[in-house]
Amino acid sequence: MRKYSNEITPSSDGERVEVAGWVHDKRKLGGLVFLIIRDRTGLIQITLPKKFIPPKVFELTRNLSKESVISVVGKVQKEDKAPNGYEIIPDSIEILSRSATPLLLDPTGKVDANLDTRLDNRVMDLRRSEITAIFKIRAAALSQAREFLGNSGFIEVTTPSIISTSSEGGTELFPVSYFEEEAFLAQSPQLYKQMMMGTGLDRVFETAKYFRAEEHDTIWHLNEVSAIDCELAFIKDERDVMKIIEGLVVAMINVVREKCKRELEILNCEIPEPKTPFPMLKYDDALAKLEDCGMKVPFGEDLSSEAEKRLGEVMREEGHDLYFITKYPLEIKPFYTMPDAEEGIYSNAFDMEYKGREIVSGSQRVHEHDLLVERIKEKGLVPENFKSYLSGFKFGMPPHGGFGLGIERFLVLLLGLPNIREAVLFPRDRKRLEP
Ligand code: ATP
Ligand code: MG
Repeated sequence: MRKYSNEITPSSDGERVEVAGWVHDKRKLGGLVFLIIRDRTGLIQITLPKKFIPPKVFELTRNLSKESVISVVGKVQKEDKAPNGYEIIPDSIEILSRSATPLLLDPTGKVDANLDTRLDNRVMDLRRSEITAIFKIRAAALSQAREFLGNSGFIEVTTPSIISTSSEGGTELFPVSYFEEEAFLAQSPQLYKQMMMGTGLDRVFETAKYFRAEEHDTIWHLNEVSAIDCELAFIKDERDVMKIIEGLVVAMINVVREKCKRELEILNCEIPEPKTPFPMLKYDDALAKLEDCGMKVPFGEDLSSEAEKRLGEVMREEGHDLYFITKYPLEIKPFYTMPDAEEGIYSNAFDMEYKGREIVSGSQRVHEHDLLVERIKEKGLVPENFKSYLSGFKFGMPPHGGFGLGIERFLVLLLGLPNIREAVLFPRDRKRLEP
């Protein structure tokens, strides 16, 4: 039975095992050949003393190029100087696939390549443990998110990615040719998850894709984003939504801290325990804090990246990496946002910030049909275009709210990655459609 490198230990000394992987390195030392092979868990040293190895097996290593895939059967021998403290003396080696030379990208990381070259050769890039570590962490965080939400009564749904109208207005859409009609890629599942609140399935989540045709070229934006998108009904106000977010984010961070120790070590990353409760900072108070440090943001403007970053520094000085900004002005929020019950210029919308960057946006939504129609008109949109969405509000719609958490943004901030493209296997940006 094939074993991974971490399933073998020095105490397996004398056992016969089968291992397989990519030829990471090949070295010759007098009458010895060393093959270092790499599998998903680490490195394994295959030691071939010419004298004791069948000549046919030894011969195989002669023209063996790096990154070829081989399978080895042999005996484990304790060896302090080898990775993980053991080596394998092979009885047989099978070459499963030969690698061409020269390599377009050396996955042993000995040559520094820039991000573009790495992304162009992503398969090779992904052979490096510091790259796969990111995706193992991503998988752990996502699986924990599912577990947390499942335990909190949410069911996972899948809504259409091909839609006929804009969900939000504002952000740009990618058009798709859909038989005789024009359709678009969804910028979020917003309208569908709200419609679900009228079905009786009153807590739903989706691991969603956001497609956004925004032309930015920043280290924070992608054109195809993954998100955890939730909606829950029978809430009192947006604070019930924020409670779920806090629990979710804490669970995701803690699972990485506890279950991804090795990956964090590879990435040289330390994650402090998240501090709860997350402070709730009103938009107005955020503006006041910014003004105190010489940054004037006029009321009614969204916080620029620079302002967000500055606020992040202020909050960090106060001991907080994770916090909410609440009570945004209604005019800068989408039509489905619930106005504040007392002061209509404010709304029940919030963002959650992580180290000075928005990773979550959410709000209580308007659940009254007539108010919703009015809000759509106020935003210069046409209620007729939202007919099927609106009809869900006519026949019994409970109060509800929800949020979207950008998975790549979360990872960038959690792990201190230098660019959001590092957090996606095959990123889509303004210039990249391949691979
Ligand atoms: P920003 O203002 O930072 O561009 P947004 O307010 O347009 O983001 P929302 O529509 O609120 O984004 O989406 C919810 C979450 O999804 C964001 O908080 C972020 O984590 C993520 N997100 C949205 N757009 C992008 C994008 N283009 N690239 C990466 N993540 C994104
Ligand atoms: Mg937002």
